[in-house]
Amino acid sequence: MRPLVATVDLAALRHNYLLAKRSTPGRHAFAVVKANAYGHGAPQAAQALAELADGFAVACIEEAREVRQVVAAARLLLLEGCFDAQEYQEAAQSGLDVVVQDEAQAALLLEARLERPLNVWLKLDSGMHRLGFTAEALRDCHARLRVAANVAELNLISHFACADERGHPSIEAQLQRYSSLLDLPFDNRTLANSAAVLTLPATHMDWVRPGIMLYGASPFAELSAQELGLKPVMRLAGRLIAMRDLAAGEAVGYGANWVAERPSRIGTVSCGYADGYPRTAPSGTPLAIRGQRVPLAGRVSMDMLAVDLTDLPEASLGDEVELWGELVSIDELAAACGTIGYELLTKVTARVPRSYKP
Ligand SMILES: *Cc1c(COP(=O)(O)O)cnc(C)c1O
Repeated sequence: MRPLVATVDLAALRHNYLLAKRSTPGRHAFAVVKANAYGHGAPQAAQALAELADGFAVACIEEAREVRQVVAAARLLLLEGCFDAQEYQEAAQSGLDVVVQDEAQAALLLEARLERPLNVWLKLDSGMHRLGFTAEALRDCHARLRVAANVAELNLISHFACADERGHPSIEAQLQRYSSLLDLPFDNRTLANSAAVLTLPATHMDWVRPGIMLYGASPFAELSAQELGLKPVMRLAGRLIAMRDLAAGEAVGYGANWVAERPSRIGTVSCGYADGYPRTAPSGTPLAIRGQRVPLAGRVSMDMLAVDLTDLPEASLGDEVELWGELVSIDELAAACGTIGYELLTKVTARVPRSYKP
């Protein structure tokens, strides 16, 4: 068996969810498990949080089906709402909460003949300009949906563009637009993502929507997951499958762009970009072997990458190599590659087996 596995620590996931809850006393939380729980496995993540979470949130109905199979009763929110009339039927049958983000979605909801009314979350475009009504249009829609037979609860939702940049002026502007609607009678209100859960108590409202923090990654560039009290959930580990000693001047990998400056020992690791390790990782990016950090050497290949073991003479064939996890944080790797932990976690490919630690 190819020695590469993503180990998912479900106790760490629960720890991080409870941290979100402790950060938002008295509030309810939708555990965001979209995109296969940010690459961790949505059914397993939902199962691990089933007894704990007040609800779950996913992007679309395809994702909701997977989660519904493991959590039969929990609130389950479709963050982009329904894409057609049939999806409203299924949402009613499965007891989903739905976002309504524009007039077309509102019209489909009003026209539908549903077996039971839905909990609806009216989406305000408070400044991100991705989805949602203007404040004025939302008032208008609220008036129509309030008296609609297909609507059970009528709730308010919006989303921050820059909650991860502390002090960014758009945060206050978005909160003000949101607050301008709070004279309307909503059953529930939600605004906060992970960054806001952790640093913006004024945005906590009735429900919060933590995503990335559940998986032990930081939404902030300048605050580490560890500093926030989060525990890493995924650990990606391969093995040293080959080793060789090279003379100074010999090159490693595609493009021959890493050249030994001294006699060097090079290890080959069973992980490449087709597994989701970023090809953009530069030489020098840390990997961990035997509890020690060692540098990536040369370009990442599709199925393998190379590591400079010269300063770790005890490294042996078959040693485990951590690509990210405890000693190399996902955020540190992401920063080295000019991306964010969200992207790396969601891009671990299907050929990498996930192993679950209870
Ligand atoms: C993905 C998402 C979240 C979670 O965001 P994080 O930054 O991962 O906490 C919350 N709300 C909406 C609408 C989302 O799309």
